[in-house]
Amino acid sequence: MSDQLFDRVALIGIGLIGSSLARVLRRDSPSTSIVACARRAETLTTVLRLALADYTTQDPAVAVEDADLIVIATPLSTYAEIGERIGPALKDGAIVTDVGSVKQAVIRDLRPHIPTTVHLVPGHPVAGTEHSGPEAGFAELFRDRWCILTPLPEAAPEAVKAVGRMWESCGMRVVTMSADHHDKVLAMTSHLPHLIAYTIVGTATNLEESLKSEVIEFSASGFRDFTRIAASDPVMWRDIFLNNREAVLEIVQRFTEDLTALQRAIRWGEGEKLQELFTRTRAVRRSIIEAKQA
Ligand code: NAP
Repeated sequence: MSDQLFDRVALIGIGLIGSSLARVLRRDSPSTSIVACARRAETLTTVLRLALADYTTQDPAVAVEDADLIVIATPLSTYAEIGERIGPALKDGAIVTDVGSVKQAVIRDLRPHIPTTVHLVPGHPVAGTEHSGPEAGFAELFRDRWCILTPLPEAAPEAVKAVGRMWESCGMRVVTMSADHHDKVLAMTSHLPHLIAYTIVGTATNLEESLKSEVIEFSASGFRDFTRIAASDPVMWRDIFLNNREAVLEIVQRFTEDLTALQRAIRWGEGEKLQELFTRTRAVRRSIIEAKQA
């Protein structure tokens, strides 16, 4: 972030994502003043120890006073209450953005509380790890990843551009789409894989108990990869599934049909069907590597 985009930034929530952004701001825009807000005093003590903010508070309304940019980076279930609390304290001309993994629900929960003199630009930096909290963040988290902005039709273009430039200066590629489209795409690329990982690890642990088998001890690499995804934050993922219900259920339905077709191919010994699918999926992996998204 070579040139200073904002004088004062309020980070509501300073876990993996919020603290990673704070690290970029600290490194590249040292004169930007950062206010961090979290629920727990311990989190704010850690934030100050890591020098990630100039000021800290447990009150979102206090955090946003005088801020040019407000970034909400808390679990989705907290948005409506945070919106209600910050709404009256926002200064005219300020920009409110967020990093939530679902976008229609964010608009539903925040929009009613944002005054017309303030710009709301919902966003989703598609970057993350299975770790949480301010100590888990790192400045390189966003590099070469996509950031999806889902501005509303009434959004001021300068506000959308300013949020986009901030994520670009974090090393992200920025794209704009409707919230509805975002939620459908992410249901496939992110939410379904997490649901599958949670299911597989759940099945394995149930089996472990009932068969006294060594599923976990001898876990092969396939299972191990799923355990990494299934170690993702339980509250964050509960909120994602509850807030992207329609799109997730639609994609689960399609997945179930495809799984049933594979089950049938195995039962009937249809090797060519299996091989044809596995050849296609291998090509997908190669194109992800070529697109530098592996
Ligand atoms: P995280 O590491 O668990 O951090 C959450 C932060 O929110 C913590 O600082 C927490 O404070 C704070 N918080 C929770 N409830 C609050 C409240 N009511 N008021 C103020 N602060 C509150 O979470 P994260 O992984 O950064 O995820 C944050 C958001 O980013 C989520 O909406 C998620 O959908 C989105 N996202 C996550 C990823 C990912 O891979 N992790 C990727 C892209 C987007 P305490 O520590 O005091 O509880």
